[in-house]
Amino acid sequence: MLKEIKIKQEIISEVAPWTMKIPEIDLSITKYEKNTEECKIKYEIIETNQNCIAIYTDGSKKANSTSSAVGIPSKKHTILQHLPQYASIYTAELTAIEMALNYIIRNNNTKYIIFTDSLSSLIAIKHHRPNNPLIIVIQNLIHQNIITNNNNINKVWVPSHIGIKENEKADTAANLAHGLPISNIPIPFTDIKTIIKGYTNSLWQQGWNETKKFLKISTPKIPFKELKNINMPRLHQTVVNKIKIGHTKITHSWILEKIKQKNCETCRTKLTVHHIILECIKYSDQRKRHNIPTNMQEVVLNQMNI
Ligand SMILES: [Zn+2]
Repeated sequence: MLKEIKIKQEIISEVAPWTMKIPEIDLSITKYEKNTEECKIKYEIIETNQNCIAIYTDGSKKANSTSSAVGIPSKKHTILQHLPQYASIYTAELTAIEMALNYIIRNNNTKYIIFTDSLSSLIAIKHHRPNNPLIIVIQNLIHQNIITNNNNINKVWVPSHIGIKENEKADTAANLAHGLPISNIPIPFTDIKTIIKGYTNSLWQQGWNETKKFLKISTPKIPFKELKNINMPRLHQTVVNKIKIGHTKITHSWILEKIKQKNCETCRTKLTVHHIILECIKYSDQRKRHNIPTNMQEVVLNQMNI
């Protein structure tokens, strides 16, 4: 299923980090509460005082579809792109900014202002040593613009859905882009990491379903994330883990001692963890007192009962 997806290669910035011209990024609107009058006024002050060509960017994600849009209202121009499946919303926001920068390079005005509602994108662009290849591309494009074309590109964060007309238009345009043919641009590997993780986990689960290990009784489902016995002293964690795999000193020391397997002294059956916790009549009172469940899976899930 991932065969058609192109992965964006890791790249090294063409510009040395210490000479990189980091653009001006205005996050001042973050200080104001969303949907307040002050917030809108602050936006209007920025928008009208710049004497720049305003560009609005937005990304959109719906189920399995991701898209990017750029709107340049003064030029009555819109650029849209339907991104490959699995592209994240973060990739969509960054791609929209990249599309805006490519537009700026193609056109010869000198002052631009890019409005985006993606705060995480802007914070990442300010970063001196980014890992995401898209951020490196964006930083290089901005640097190239400042150095060779003397372009002044300001970037401003604006909150989404507070009624800024042009911002809403970019949002609508990004929604429309879902209907376009899908482009085959490469996407960062981080976008498909979760899919690969889910797939390998399902393979692991298939293999686990076929094993006959004792641990499977208490843990039939492989957890997607590592489960930790949080808030439990180390000694107790060790006890819980030994019970989960069914190997304890009481039930298995006979192997090291090279003697016959021990039987339960009360019931005369094989001495196993399962027997001690769920069956042995010697402990029926304790089981009742501590409300011990009747199967191993529940016992382990309710570890604090042990
Ligand atoms: Zn017994």
